[in-house]
Amino acid sequence: MGNKFYITTAIDYVNGAPHVGHAYEKILADVLARWNRLNKIDTFFLTGTDENAQKNSQAAKEAGIETKEFVDKNTEVFVKLCNYLDLSNDDFIKTTEPRHVKVAQSIFKKIFDKGEIYKKKYSGLYCEGCEAFLTERDLVDGKCPEHNKKPKIIEEENYFFKLSKYEKEILKLVSSKNFIVPEGFRKEIVNRIKSDGLKDISVSRPGMDWGIDTPIDKEHKIYVWIDALSNYISALGYPNDKKFKKYWPADIHVVGKGINWFHSVIWPAILMSAEIELPKKILVHGYLTFNGKKISKSLGNAIDPTALVKKYSVDPLRYTLVKDIPFNQDGDFSENSLKERVNNELANDLGNLVSRTLTLCEKYFDGILDKQEDDGLLKKLNLNKIEKYFSKYELHHALEEIWKFVRESNKYVNDKEPWKNEDDRKKVLYNLLESLRVISIFISPFMPETSERINNQLGVGIGLLEDIKFGWHGKYNVKKEGVLFKKLE
Ligand SMILES: [Zn+2]
Repeated sequence: MGNKFYITTAIDYVNGAPHVGHAYEKILADVLARWNRLNKIDTFFLTGTDENAQKNSQAAKEAGIETKEFVDKNTEVFVKLCNYLDLSNDDFIKTTEPRHVKVAQSIFKKIFDKGEIYKKKYSGLYCEGCEAFLTERDLVDGKCPEHNKKPKIIEEENYFFKLSKYEKEILKLVSSKNFIVPEGFRKEIVNRIKSDGLKDISVSRPGMDWGIDTPIDKEHKIYVWIDALSNYISALGYPNDKKFKKYWPADIHVVGKGINWFHSVIWPAILMSAEIELPKKILVHGYLTFNGKKISKSLGNAIDPTALVKKYSVDPLRYTLVKDIPFNQDGDFSENSLKERVNNELANDLGNLVSRTLTLCEKYFDGILDKQEDDGLLKKLNLNKIEKYFSKYELHHALEEIWKFVRESNKYVNDKEPWKNEDDRKKVLYNLLESLRVISIFISPFMPETSERINNQLGVGIGLLEDIKFGWHGKYNVKKEGVLFKKLE
């Protein structure tokens, strides 16, 4: 790993409310951001909202309010969600902000001046939901499969970007095993380029009342590709800000599988044309179902991540989402699974370990324990495996490995019976405190709030990976506070 790490999520449309799928993507990126910070890597984590979509203007009209007001109100929900989910994002970009508008326009201008944007009449199948022209191949039973709607045939004069020019270079880029992860999603892109090739794409829309003007023609707004995708550099203050110089290129763009093509093909081609360095990796995740059902509006408030946080608190939600959705697949998030995980893994395994260790420390030593000899408990933690899983983005496996150590620690208490064995009682409890301190470091990317609550009881500060050596903390003065996790019905 280098000495800086820049990670982004996709920016969300604000014409609908966030659902648990949005939460999943943001939590994924947050865990990786926090893991890099644990490794003392200078990290920048970006998320935000795509406010320029024409859909917003339509939705605002239906609601009878100004588009800007509609967008501001809805974006606020996404901003608040970051707090509810305990995200450590360093910035939140909104694409109506002047800092973004000027960058989107400058990228458009740069490519136009180079002769790689040209005007052409075009007729095609347009899905209003996608805000995109679809090909026959995209349709299922003549309908857009994402929106289950028949596309309209639209004829327009648009500005086109010479995507076709970059076919060879893009194919070479995506042929590298490291660029798109996981492998299944990489192969999809490679196969699609090999079978269909790259065709030029329209990068403007005429006659729209909402969006960013193209810098060359006031009749046209900049279409989503150059507009939305350039948020990843506008947020860093491209081209001159020191943040841009420090953090670009992005180390990871985290995206859902539905927008893999845009990020793995269109975005790199835009950057090649604008002569800007390419991102290092596109990390693609699958889709979520909720209680076994496809996420849709009909599920109502149930899939609102804010409501889930209010009901179960944030860490059980973060833990369950990471644990139940393996990175390279679709997965199901269910409240039953959350309850089971809270009761078994969080309350029984972890909560119990913290509670019994601290109770014994207070009972026998008033919570004060000097440094003792190493009994070998901490050696049972397999750091190499955890690091390996993180490097492969198998976060559910990393969690499982941490939990093996939590269970080892519980077994250690049972075997040593410090309530009976007075002779090595102090040594056993000190070893347990050190193991709790280290567990707290490892769970901090996944459950920052729980990690902090454990630290407070142990009387230690926020730890880094370099602090996991036995005896690092020295003398303990611990103070037990209520239970970490209440069991759920
Ligand atoms: Zn559609």
